[in-house]
This record gives sequence, structure tokens and C-alpha cells, in this order.
Amino acid sequence: VIPVTPSVAEPPRRPVESRQPSTGEVWRTYPTATAAEIADAVATARAAQPAWAAVPLGRRMAILRRFHDLVYDRRAEIATTVSRETDKPVVEAFLTEVGVVLDVANWLQREVPGLLRAPWRETVGLGTRRKRVRVTREPFGVVAVITPWNYPFLQVCSRVLPALLAGNTVVFKPSELSPSSGVLLRDLLVEAGIPADACGIVQGDGHTGASLVAAAVDKVCFTGSVAAGRSVARACADRFIPTSLELGGSDAAIVLADADPRHAASGLAWGRFSCAGQTCIAPKRIFVEAPLYDAFVDAMRGVVTTIRTGTGDDVEVGAMIRPAFKATLEAQRDDAIARGARVVATAPATVPSIFPPTVLVDVPDDARAMREETFGPLMVIAKVASADEAVARANASDFGLSGSVWSRDTARAAEIAGRLACGAVAINDVLCTSGIPEVPHGGIGQSGAGRMHGRAGLEEFVRTRGIVADRFATARQAWWFGYSARHRGDVDAFLTFAHARSVVARLRALPAVLRLIFRPDHPL
Ligand code: NAD
Repeated sequence: VIPVTPSVAEPPRRPVESRQPSTGEVWRTYPTATAAEIADAVATARAAQPAWAAVPLGRRMAILRRFHDLVYDRRAEIATTVSRETDKPVVEAFLTEVGVVLDVANWLQREVPGLLRAPWRETVGLGTRRKRVRVTREPFGVVAVITPWNYPFLQVCSRVLPALLAGNTVVFKPSELSPSSGVLLRDLLVEAGIPADACGIVQGDGHTGASLVAAAVDKVCFTGSVAAGRSVARACADRFIPTSLELGGSDAAIVLADADPRHAASGLAWGRFSCAGQTCIAPKRIFVEAPLYDAFVDAMRGVVTTIRTGTGDDVEVGAMIRPAFKATLEAQRDDAIARGARVVATAPATVPSIFPPTVLVDVPDDARAMREETFGPLMVIAKVASADEAVARANASDFGLSGSVWSRDTARAAEIAGRLACGAVAINDVLCTSGIPEVPHGGIGQSGAGRMHGRAGLEEFVRTRGIVADRFATARQAWWFGYSARHRGDVDAFLTFAHARSVVARLRALPAVLRLIFRPDHPL
């Protein structure tokens, strides 16, 4: 255990623990950063930023390649660390953290050079044709990255890697529930060649996160709950610091009457119950067209009752992260039952820390499980008369992270996908949208603002600078002073020359346009 040395001004804060949820065993303890240590980390990152931004792109990309290879080589260590402090099965950590991070690294290898390339371009306007423009993409400076525990390797990587490659330096705060995954990631980045000062880490809880936001950073990328995101957004608004907010979700899945009920049930059960149901984009509300409803519920019952819960290698659903989270989910389930909902299936519970995957039907729209985010293995299935009703109920939510549509008719599913008020939609699958780096991930409404992955996700880490240059250094511009009646007439003629429908009118305007180009009457 590393002793905590609190600053004089602050009360001591509890160290953070890497704890296995199902057994309660504490594997490692880390001191919580003091306000002075946070300020130091930001100052160090700021001092390191100009030199890091000056590192040639080729060298940055070589570091990225090395990082990719290190992640591959040390995949078992990464997956075990993640599994130990989140209770997600190792196979899930391989699939949804290591595998996705490897793809993210390869995607960045392909995309970052294009992002940072800034060629001179022609203008579209005839009046500015003598000019060239280029748009450069500049780093913000120091980016703060604050992340949750549920995908503790992926969530950090998908923010920290592009931030660094764009020339920013970073100070990140992993969740207080997954500190070891954060430390391992930073070790791998530094081993790959990122200067240690360019990538700082601070450990601690929400207070530490708030102190990091309050430190002298230039942008905040926050992933977590709506309540914390709101407080981050407020703090940043006061200082006009840009934010990127990835918040909670209550994703809808729409199962159309022509879907294969067993295929849809298998996919949706995995989406809802993997990571013990603690995935932001898990399908939390499932709307099934009436003709398929009974077959779908039967199929879901078949899948759910065979899910293996507990701890160990062949387990599919482990414990929820902490008992308090389990208690909230139990309250949401009990509220639904008190309002008339029925439990139609549960998986066997093997250890007390497990919340067994549970399927609810007949949940009224005003129940907490319909209105709030349910962050654990609780599934809600509702019968709808039509796809239109499904879309209306899916969109009747404060959240709008992602969704899915299930049908044998992909064209119809795509049409319905286009009507869902959310950031991404999967057709006949679930969760995959945030595992494919080409797809921008993010939400609308209370699910946040900003994107991770995709071109839009890369643009989060740069600000644009437009540069305009004349091809002739001493050319007089048509809009400079020297106004007169004749100049006004020439300008009017120019508008005709550039935009009139009639070719004859445009040709007649030519002499005036030449006058405007050379401006013989200009006072200079
Ligand atoms: P959380 O909001 O409690 O914590 C997330 C992070 O924010 C942690 O590092 C925490 O220490 C920090 N934090 C808490 N309060 C803060 C404050 N006031 N200022 C600054 N930092 C603060 O969330 P959690 O329980 O770790 O994660 C679960 C939530 O995250 C769920 O709502 C889930 O939907 C959401 N989530 C969203 C996405 C997404 O991409 N949209 C991804 C994963 C999780």
C-alpha cells in the first residue's frame, strides 16, 4: 500500500482501491492525488506540450505502431487486469477492450495523417479566385480525460490516443473503481515512446475529477453519468473551455414482426447482460411488434435461463461493480413490479453479489425502469402494435445514445433506424457501433454532446485554423476602399458576371469585372 501524503490545506482523501467486485478482494491501492499534485500534473503536461507537438508525425505514428504491438503482446495481462477490477469475464475483456483498442490503433494509423494534412485549396467564389486557402488542425494544449470503470481500457484509449496523436498532452483520471487499468495503459503508452510528461495520470474519485476540470486545462473529455457530466459542463462553461461529453443511455431495440426471434433474443441478451448489464449502449428497452411478441419472449426466456452467472472461466455474467449499484437496480426492478410489471425470466444466481439477469414485461411507461437509465442486468420488453409506435416510444426518452433494429428486411430496418433519435444504430446486432472505430459514438439529449471515434471523434482534439493567402502579394482587392458610383456599378456588374443565369448578361459585365480586378481608379 502506497501511503497518502495529503497537502497541508486539504483533508486527507481515501486512497483508491483496485477491488474485485465479486470477492471484495483488494489487489492494489493508489493514493488519491491532492489538488497540488493535480496542478503539478497539468503544469508538467503544459510544459511538455510544445516539444511533443513538434515531434514529426512519422515518429508519432511509429510510437502508435509500437503501442499496438505492445497491446497485442500483453493482451493477457490487460484482459486479466480489466477482468479483476470489473468482474467482466476475461473473454469479454479480450473482445470488447483489447480487440477494439487494437482496431482503434490501426484506424488511427490510417486516419490521423489525413486529419492533420492541410493542403492549399482553390476557393469556390469567383471574387476570391486569386486566393488559396488552407485549414490547419492545431492541438488545444492540455486535454483532461475523465473516464468510467465499465470499459476501463477502451474508454481511456479512445480518448487519450487521438488526443496525443493530434499534438496535445493529456492528464487523465481513470475511475476510482478501475485504477489499475489506467496505470497499465499509461505504462504501455510510455513504453511505446510517449514522453512520460506528455501523459499524466491522477488517481481519485469525483472530487479529483472536479479538481482536474478546475485546473488549467484547455479541453475536457468526460465519459460517465449525466449528473457528473452536467457538473463538468457547468464548470467548463464558466471558463469557456470546450467539452466532449459521453453520458448515460437508455437505448431502445426495435424488433420487427419479420425478425428471427431466436437470433434477436440471442443478440439482445448478449447486449443487455454482458459486462453485467453495465454498458452505456446496452439495449435497455426492447419494443417488439405484436405478431412476434410471444415467440420473442419465449426465445428470450430460453436464452436468459441458461446464462451462467458467478465467477470463473466459463461464467458469462459476473457481479455488478459495487453493492450500491445493485441496490439501485433492485429499487428500479421493484418499482416496476409495484406498478404491475412481471418478471418472465431470470438467470440462476450463484453468489450473493450477483444480480441475476432479469427480464421484465408489462412495464408501464412511467416506471423508473422506462424513464431512468438501468445500469445493470435488467431487461424490459414491451409489446407494440406497429413499428411507428415502437419508434415513438423509443424516442420518448430523455436519452439518445444508440439503438438497434432487428428485421430480415434490411432496407426497412435502415429506414426505421433513420427515425431513431440517437447517435448510432445497429441493424441485427447490438453494441457493435462503439466497437467499430469508423463509427462516431455519442449521443443527443441527456446522453451528451460530442463524439468518440469516427472523423467527428478525431476533430474533438483539434481546433481549426484557416489561412488565406493571395497569389499576388500586392494585388488590390475589389472590396478595399475607393468607393464611388462607378465602383458600385462595377461591383453590381461583377455579381451579374458571377451569378446571372443569362450568358449574354454575364458577357456584357466583363469590362466592369476587369476594371474591378485591376482597380485603375484605386487611391493607392
Ligand atoms: P460516474 O459519473 O460516477 O464517474 C465517471 C468518472 O467521472 C469517474 O472517473 C468519476 O470519478 C468522475 N467524476 C464523478 N463526478 C465527477 C465530477 N463532479 N467532476 C469530474 N469528474 C467526476 O460514472 P460511472 O458510474 O463510473 O459510469 C457509469 C455511467 O457512465 C453510466 O451512466 C454510463 O451510461 C456512462 N457511460 C457512458 C458512456 C458513453 O460513451 N456515453 C460510456 C461508458 C459509460
